[in-house]
Amino acid sequence: MARPDYPLADLPALRCIGVASALGAPGPGPEAGPERLRFLGMAAAPRRSGRECTWETTLAAPAAALPADRWPALGQLCQDLADRVEAAAGNGLPLILGGDHSTAVGTWRGIGRHLAARGLPAPGLLWIDAHLDAHTPENSRTGNPHGMPLAALFGLGAVEFLAVPGPLLDPERVVVLGVRSWEDEELNLLQRLGVRVYFMEEITRRGQPAVFAEALARVAAQGPFGISLDLDALDPLEAPGVSTPAPGGIKAADLRLAMAGLARNPLLVGVEIAEYHPGQDVADRTGRLAIDLVEALCQPPAAELQDWEGRHGATNYAPLPVVLARGQGSWLWDTAGRPYLDLMSAYSAVSFGHGHPRLVATLAAQASRLAVTSRAYFSDRLPLFLRRLTQLTGYDRALPVNTGLEAVETALKAARKWGHKVKSIPEGRAEIIACAGNFHGRSITIVGLSTEAQYQDGFGPFPPGLLTVPYGDAAALEAAITPNTAAFLVEPVQGEGGIILPPPGYLATCAAICRRHNVLLIADEVQTGLGRTGRLLACEHEGVRPDGVILGKALGGGLLPVSAFLADEEVMQVFTPGDHGSTFGGNALAAAVGLEALELLVDEDLVRHSADLGQHLLARLQALRSPAIRAVRGIGLFAGIDLEPRYTDAREFCEALLEKGVLSKDTHHTVVRLAPPLTISREELDRGLDAVAEVADDLGRRLPRAA
Ligand code: PMP
Repeated sequence: MARPDYPLADLPALRCIGVASALGAPGPGPEAGPERLRFLGMAAAPRRSGRECTWETTLAAPAAALPADRWPALGQLCQDLADRVEAAAGNGLPLILGGDHSTAVGTWRGIGRHLAARGLPAPGLLWIDAHLDAHTPENSRTGNPHGMPLAALFGLGAVEFLAVPGPLLDPERVVVLGVRSWEDEELNLLQRLGVRVYFMEEITRRGQPAVFAEALARVAAQGPFGISLDLDALDPLEAPGVSTPAPGGIKAADLRLAMAGLARNPLLVGVEIAEYHPGQDVADRTGRLAIDLVEALCQPPAAELQDWEGRHGATNYAPLPVVLARGQGSWLWDTAGRPYLDLMSAYSAVSFGHGHPRLVATLAAQASRLAVTSRAYFSDRLPLFLRRLTQLTGYDRALPVNTGLEAVETALKAARKWGHKVKSIPEGRAEIIACAGNFHGRSITIVGLSTEAQYQDGFGPFPPGLLTVPYGDAAALEAAITPNTAAFLVEPVQGEGGIILPPPGYLATCAAICRRHNVLLIADEVQTGLGRTGRLLACEHEGVRPDGVILGKALGGGLLPVSAFLADEEVMQVFTPGDHGSTFGGNALAAAVGLEALELLVDEDLVRHSADLGQHLLARLQALRSPAIRAVRGIGLFAGIDLEPRYTDAREFCEALLEKGVLSKDTHHTVVRLAPPLTISREELDRGLDAVAEVADDLGRRLPRAA
């Protein structure tokens, strides 16, 4: 039975209040902001983290026929907003969504009144903005009220603003962050009042985390605080949807990090996001960023996320203790922004690195054009993918599916049907031979082929006709073949088995044996294929061309599950319409991404890179001198460090690497697997290997345990 959930209900719900106003802006546009944010799913962002969120209202700006009318209208709107915000603050955490920034006067007066009624001081305020917003009507060059709210919050400026009831802010507890466009009179005013201004230059020089922490400490030092974010604080290259963009600016990822979890801080009393101008936006990018920032605000801490996974998920994995939130190239970042070098690449699925721009662009463009239609119809992507895949690998045909195990199942079905229909094995008698120590996936048939007790334990009965022979022993294969043998299924290098390389010549001998006995040789290249071992297919190292090849993992570019079974006409023709299929297999999105992944492999010469860098990887591993290591093995960018159990185990080794900011994964208790993205640079790899050497040194220095 699931245990009770966290008392998330104890955290205040978010109360969204839209302010559909451009009264303070140079022109129309921002008034459409709140409803666009609502349409894009703003209220769902907190709910994703289990935080209640409601859309309370969207206030419409009173009509102002002439520019001169806008002041009274704005004054009225701010008063209404202050009332709304005060009420919402009594019943949750107000999230005010502009509209132009001038209505901040209403927001923070309303929050101030809510606090005052409870005997609390006016809120501290983190004002994140490209501009200083501290003009008054007397010194403003444009006369636009959206350049004036901060001055008004200190009691300076238009009577319409000053008439909004509520406490003034304490300048000592207000900071302005991200500024890069201002006029002297504004700066003079804020400096005279004692407001701390962090210009963009200072943020760049000192780094965002240090500046943000300092700013937060100042605004929250004496009690409640709020955040007012003008979206033009962000770099307009990332957030173009604003009225007055200013070049440069805070990076969205940095701001996201700074915001992470702040809505759990009991001192946070209000958040405002202003100046969204959907008409200037590109593909809703800025709106989505705003939503992403709100999601970050509500983000649970890493330990809680781990705990949720542990409570709400099946516990069929034991992940290393790191919660990853972002990836780029060879690097991953945890929720606190700590970087990790990825030497595992999702069991080789991320061969092209994380978020490769070409793959992400292909995914996004194709997802919005056409994604899934099923194979009830043709799509304009699958033919291109199949053509390129068969051309590159030299097989007649490919059958596209999703995951690796599906492709293995497909291969086994093809082999059995070929055995019965072509080789004339009596119906229902076809046998498949695999190798001890194999890993081909987790379906019942496939674990039926496994020799790992845990993979089978409790999952039987298994289909008949499955047997295994020792890996690396060609004579054992030949001895096991009977007239009913349809296929021999083999990994050119056993990955999950511990990066086990068979003896030289093994595959070639197996190929000859299979040919002699009319048995299909099927290579599972789910992990070894597409350049991992320094050749397009690992079988090429021995000049072997199997009768069938299984690809997966990297074929999906690290973005989607895309796998395939490849074979020539004689085998593949056993499938006729209706024999076999998969709703998502070969969908247009998967085909587009798979195709781009293949093109990338060629364009970036990754197979050669893997071969070259792989030699360096193996040489450096072989040079390690530590009693904690009993063997190293590898080919291409695929290596295993076999540990001496008297010193350590692979889990402990991987946890020590994690501490040093390097991600790897244990397999079979004693082997640490290294399979970095094929796009990794030599410098990055060396950094990771330095950490490996340090860990091996540390662990090798302890006293050995009894054997
Ligand atoms: N074959 C091999 C050689 C594998 O390494 C794996 C996965 N590690 C699979 C098949 C199964 O792939 P999937 O997890 O996508 O089903």
